[in-house]
Amino acid sequence: MQPLTDQLLHCTLPDLPLPAALHPRWLAEGVLELRPEHARRAVVVSAGIHGNETAPVELLLALVAAIGAGTLCPATDLLLVFGNLPAMRANRRYLHHDMNRLFGGRHRTAPRSHEATRAAELEAVTAAFFEHTTAPAGERWHLDMHTAIRGSLYPQFALVPFHAHAYSPAFFDLLAAAELDAVVQHTQVGGTFSHFVSEQFQAQSVTLELGKARPFGQNDLPQFAPTGRAIRALITGAPLPERQKPPVHHFTVAESIIKTSEQFTLNLPNEAENFTCLPPGYEIAAQPDRRWVVSDTARHILFPNAGVATGLRAGMLLAPGAPRLSLSE
Ligand SMILES: [Zn+2]
Repeated sequence: MQPLTDQLLHCTLPDLPLPAALHPRWLAEGVLELRPEHARRAVVVSAGIHGNETAPVELLLALVAAIGAGTLCPATDLLLVFGNLPAMRANRRYLHHDMNRLFGGRHRTAPRSHEATRAAELEAVTAAFFEHTTAPAGERWHLDMHTAIRGSLYPQFALVPFHAHAYSPAFFDLLAAAELDAVVQHTQVGGTFSHFVSEQFQAQSVTLELGKARPFGQNDLPQFAPTGRAIRALITGAPLPERQKPPVHHFTVAESIIKTSEQFTLNLPNEAENFTCLPPGYEIAAQPDRRWVVSDTARHILFPNAGVATGLRAGMLLAPGAPRLSLSE
């Protein structure tokens, strides 16, 4: 295991020397704030909201190391968040509850758990961070980095939370520069960290799915390098790296498949990848009181999972194309 990962997991990361000019402060365990002079942008970068999604944690640690070594000089207010440390230590997605369903105050009505307490803490430190920034409203950014359970036809993609305020062309330029293969626009509110930051602080916030979840030390880190370079450009104000891949594919969530019965079945092989295109008329899921049939327009399946608890989402059907909301508002 890398020494810095070890320091993170043993809570000794705050011993790492950081440039005094950045006014570094640990606002909570695993939450580092940096405030350079004259910052004109405020950026939150988070990883490890799911504890077994380790590659983004290593990417974030590399940023901390570069800042500590003086080779990366942020010109923006910066909040770096290592989400679920106990789950990271256990190499588990979560200990008691999926933390990325508890934001937006849902932690208050959820059963008591480590994740509910931590979600409340992360909401509070994020609020404090944005409250004290001098960056204008259009320059509030949040990248919440994850990796996925399944393989994916588009290996790296972004999930843009439902939002009523404008996301700028510069935001989509960043996603393109990070070499993401696809962008998915949500059309309903959710309990994710990115939805909370977007709605509460009018930030341009996004969930990034950057590959498959693997334990610490087993990640193919070069796969994550383009995202790292784009984040470095965002926080230093340098020009974005030039995209090398074909243009980004855009999708919009057309239907969420909500499991409400224990007899719910999903008609997909386990190895089916995210974004698999299904034939119109195909019965994708069923339970005694209803069935879900693939329409002509929304044929791509995302995050299929029959094993979720009842009341939760067991998959989404996507239509190709971006909604006007996210691009032209
Ligand atoms: Zn995740």
